[in-house]
Amino acid sequence: MTRLYNFCAGPAALPTPVLQRAQEELLDYHGRGLSVMEMSHRSADFTAIAEAAEATLRELLAIPDNYRVLFLQGGASSQFAMVPYNLLGRGGTPNYLYTGIWGKKAIAEARHVAGAHIAASSEDNGLREVPRPEAIALSSDAAYLHYTDNETIGGLAFDYIPEVEVPLVCDMSSSILSAPLDVSRFGVIYAGAQKNIGPAGLTLVIVRDDLLDRARPDTPTMFNYRVMAEHGSMYNTPPTYAWYLAGLVFDWLKQDIGGLEAMDAINARKAETLYGAIDASGFYSNPIAPRNRSRMNVPFVLADDALNGDFLREAETAGLLNLKGHRSVGGMRASLYNAVPEAAVEALVDFMADFERRHG
Ligand code: PMP
Repeated sequence: MTRLYNFCAGPAALPTPVLQRAQEELLDYHGRGLSVMEMSHRSADFTAIAEAAEATLRELLAIPDNYRVLFLQGGASSQFAMVPYNLLGRGGTPNYLYTGIWGKKAIAEARHVAGAHIAASSEDNGLREVPRPEAIALSSDAAYLHYTDNETIGGLAFDYIPEVEVPLVCDMSSSILSAPLDVSRFGVIYAGAQKNIGPAGLTLVIVRDDLLDRARPDTPTMFNYRVMAEHGSMYNTPPTYAWYLAGLVFDWLKQDIGGLEAMDAINARKAETLYGAIDASGFYSNPIAPRNRSRMNVPFVLADDALNGDFLREAETAGLLNLKGHRSVGGMRASLYNAVPEAAVEALVDFMADFERRHG
């Protein structure tokens, strides 16, 4: 068996020990004679799996008691619509910070439901720097402020949490669990699972409980946070296997890694290694303002675009997978999520130096 280094932006690498444990438990979960995939979501065994996953997540992120954790489907993209549906029941205008492609999609979806006010934007600087806190100008009737903590395609990340009087809503799809977080600063946090949480098919929502009575009356039942909270995310059949795997990832973070402070330190070293190599070379470059460089997604370009094909082919031969940048921006992108080990980053920078020597 060979597991290569996988730099995919999502679905992303999962920790090998997690996959091994899933494999061990696949056919016969704890002597029950069936797989977790084949269990009723209402069974005692699955209930225990679901509750343990939530408890470990709460511990990792120190989620306060007045927040509910929802295990949903539909991806982060569904949250683009669910957020306005659930938070506009008392009227007001949704406010957004625009820093990249995912935020733009969230804004477009809010406009389907209501209007949207752009409270600050990175458009003027070519999406290379997030707006400074003093540039944020909410509309007078702001219902909430939404932003994307880490723009996965652009590799642009916030270096601060905005301070506002209205509920703060954050798309943390590509940054959640990469470092400790003060959940109490937020009204709603959401994330698709397929980066730092688990396999695709699960969407995590963390919502402050006083916001559960703000849904618009026309909110579809399956979109309603309160309905999902009241049913323990089991109004209908939840994505049981993805939920179970997320629980294994949370266990790995807690037991193997030692929690989010330890994860933070590892992620800081990985990012430093790669950005250091890019900055030290005259061949590779990254356009993002240093304080807003993403630690999770590192886009970079080669001095000569004509070498992109060779770079990707040779990288794959060297066991370095999925380095192609998003189709909308081109170039390369290395995603360094939690499950990407430091050895992968070392192997990548060695390969990059060797490629530069041969082609630079
Ligand atoms: N937001 C961000 C920041 C993302 O990176 C992605 C997916 N790459 C999405 C939203 C959309 O997520 P999903 O595919 O789960 O709908």
